[in-house]
Amino acid sequence: MKLSSMETGEKGTIRKVRGIGAFRKRIMEMGFVSGKEVEVIKNAPLQDPIEYRIMGYNVSLRRSEAELINIFGEHHKNKHKINNFIGSTNDSGPKNSEYEKCHIINIALIGNPNSGKTTLFNQISGARERVGNYSGVTVDSKTTEIKYKDYMFRITDLPGTYSMTTYSPEEKYVRNYLINEVPDLVVNVVDASNLERNLYLTTQLIDMDIKVIVALNMFDELTNKQDRFDHDMLGKMLGIPFVPTISSKGTGIDKLSDEIIDVYEDRNPVLRHIHINYGNSIENSIKEIRSELSKTPDLYILSKISPRYIALKLLENDSEMIKMIEDSSRFSSIMEVVKEEQDKIESQFEEPTDTIITDAKYGFISGALRETFKLGPVKTFDKTKAIDSFATHKFWGLPIFFLLMWIMFKATFSLGQYPMEWLEFLVGKLSDLVSVNMAEGMFKDLLIDGVIGGVGGVIVFLPNILILFLFISFFEDSGYMSRAVFIIDKLMHKIGLHGRSFIPLIMGFGCSVPAIMATRTI
Ligand code: GDP
Ligand code: MG
Repeated sequence: MKLSSMETGEKGTIRKVRGIGAFRKRIMEMGFVSGKEVEVIKNAPLQDPIEYRIMGYNVSLRRSEAELINIFGEHHKNKHKINNFIGSTNDSGPKNSEYEKCHIINIALIGNPNSGKTTLFNQISGARERVGNYSGVTVDSKTTEIKYKDYMFRITDLPGTYSMTTYSPEEKYVRNYLINEVPDLVVNVVDASNLERNLYLTTQLIDMDIKVIVALNMFDELTNKQDRFDHDMLGKMLGIPFVPTISSKGTGIDKLSDEIIDVYEDRNPVLRHIHINYGNSIENSIKEIRSELSKTPDLYILSKISPRYIALKLLENDSEMIKMIEDSSRFSSIMEVVKEEQDKIESQFEEPTDTIITDAKYGFISGALRETFKLGPVKTFDKTKAIDSFATHKFWGLPIFFLLMWIMFKATFSLGQYPMEWLEFLVGKLSDLVSVNMAEGMFKDLLIDGVIGGVGGVIVFLPNILILFLFISFFEDSGYMSRAVFIIDKLMHKIGLHGRSFIPLIMGFGCSVPAIMATRTI
């Protein structure tokens, strides 16, 4: 439970202060430390700020600040006091476990598209979210809660991203999620068969100073290729625990769950915060900007994001980050320093600052992999290449594509015609039956024109929809969808659409209901 969701007059006990840096330190110095009782005194007229009573004095917090404090409700108070007493020894006996039952850990799943996040999410939670073979299946986030040991995992499956810049809506979504929701920890799902690209995102999480566990997924592919990868060593270098998983088989999930608890409780020996060294010039610039930021007391985002990350993003001219500090009192002087530092860097390297930072990140990754990773001797049969030599062939690609689309179209509307007629027949029969056997009146009209006519009118499309979605799932899961998009994209782009719009577009010539449903893939 969050402190912000307590009602006036309610009491609770502090469980944990989230957030980072100066904000966290100050709030803890004010007495918001775990085990302390807090009471809501009153809300301001606009519900913000809120006045609290803690350690015998009153203090007001903004709602957004109170959101960062986790508490137990009233009924845990006594148990917690017992725990507090025990806490001075190292005992974690049976009295503890009762109270531990309500530890909620907010976990965000982050990773590249197709790294297996949704599969992992489904494995951990027993949910059945769609997995897909091309990016963009997960367009928003899904959250689930499961109990594991004495903890409650609140896991959020986020859209796939390659980076945490704000290039695409997915990236923006993920970054805003991290900044606004402040999850307790991030499980970074990494595709073990594509380490270099996947670890790029990891370096950004390191910059953000967030607790991270890497789920080294698709570990089966790494083993198949007989690549040698000392993930423990890389983990120690990055200060991040690495847990190999094969989420499609459920392997490694328990270990990952245990590790989540360890990291949450700060018991993991590997976990530490490192800084990626971007080289003297960039590091100096970061230092200058940080010192400028620290002179700005009204910079609220400093309570949620590490100043190092803010400095880096400002150096990269990140428009979202600039927007976030825009209304601070010292905005113009901060931006002045940023500009000055950018000029310094760019005159030295003769390249834009963001390019230099990206290069440094990849340099860091390849250096780290050089020491820990060795490509295996096994050349596996490259399925992707084999499929591509057909599916995206210079001459055959388009005919194959149109053939498949034609089959899908025909199947949906010609084949679907039969069950559609049967259903129409049944609906007709049912309404005849009712009209013969029922007395005239309003209720009869309602039943025939409303219920049977209405539901019947929709249900006749069911066969079309089923067939269409069967095809779409087949194309997605076989990987053909991403090829189809690739082939047709240029053509579609000429009318201002993405390649993915093709299927809904042609479906619309048959019937608008399945066509609109197919727009999900855009
Ligand atoms: P997401 O985009 O990150 O959500 O990835 P998905 O969960 O949709 O998975 C993408 C594809 O990878 C699916 O076809 C999964 O079946 C497959 N997959 C997921 N985990 C593993 C794994 O550990 N090993 C292998 N070989 N395939 C996996
Ligand atoms: Mg997904």
